[in-house]
Amino acid sequence: MLRNNGIGLAASQVGIPRRLFIVGIGDEPLRVFINPHIIARSQETTEFEEGCLSFPGLYFNVVRPLAVDIEAVDMHGKPLRISADGLLARVIQHEYDHLDGILFIDRVSPVKRKRALAHYGRMLKM
Ligand SMILES: [Zn+2]
Repeated sequence: MLRNNGIGLAASQVGIPRRLFIVGIGDEPLRVFINPHIIARSQETTEFEEGCLSFPGLYFNVVRPLAVDIEAVDMHGKPLRISADGLLARVIQHEYDHLDGILFIDRVSPVKRKRALAHYGRMLKM
């Protein structure tokens, strides 16, 4: 994740079938979320450009709630509860989606997705 300038990675992205993801934004210490549950989402939403380590070079504007409350277990086995907003809330939601098999491309309009994936397919062949 760090080598590829990622700021989040879900276990399922690297073939590990566990409900676990990590988030590391800038110089902040890595946060580990084990068996996470998003327990609240703000009504207010925000649009922001996202990428994904599973789709290098592909970026979409994705609308998501501005803030979330999440409960999980940390890497020491201790319960963790965070009220997150901004970039942290966004990364948490993106990674949380991975655990349910939802990709960021599933969160944009079908037309936009089709166009981008066609472009992406051409990029991969180059
Ligand atoms: Zn991703």
